[in-house]
Amino acid sequence: MKLKIFTTGGTIDKIYFDAKSEYQIGDPQIGDVLREANVSFPYSVEPLLRKDSLELTEADRDLLQQRIQQADAQRILVTHGTDTMADTGRFLKSVTDKTIVLVGAMQPARFRMTDAIFNIGAAVMAAQTLPSGVYIAMNGQVFDPDNVQKNRDKMRFETT
Ligand code: GLU
Repeated sequence: MKLKIFTTGGTIDKIYFDAKSEYQIGDPQIGDVLREANVSFPYSVEPLLRKDSLELTEADRDLLQQRIQQADAQRILVTHGTDTMADTGRFLKSVTDKTIVLVGAMQPARFRMTDAIFNIGAAVMAAQTLPSGVYIAMNGQVFDPDNVQKNRDKMRFETT
């Protein structure tokens, strides 16, 4: 069962240079994470956007939706910034015949203390096992995009 992965940017792919630099979004990290984990399922990664999710436009979400619909896979993973992940999740609910899981990280995958590897592991399992629908896999839980919020103080996703 092939997993199709679209990357859109967000902190999961951010690079830190030094104290005088801004974070920038670098190459998608999920391919490296899956290679290092030595996963044994087929997947392909398609870098689609490289944006902080606060900068995503309706056209960006339209593009993502179209590419998901056209993908030759039933099971889809999307890496995404956390601030508007739920908005994109709700937007993608128009796709009803695929399993779509959104995942991101509060700390860049390049950091030693990152949550990216844990979140990707959980999201991969969610994408391979859940029925058709749109889900958010963060902080060890699977959420409905209609019923989730990012708690900025606690730096985690919670059910509303
Ligand atoms: N503004 C960032 C975003 O949503 C927040 C952190 C993140 O990337 O996950 O893209």
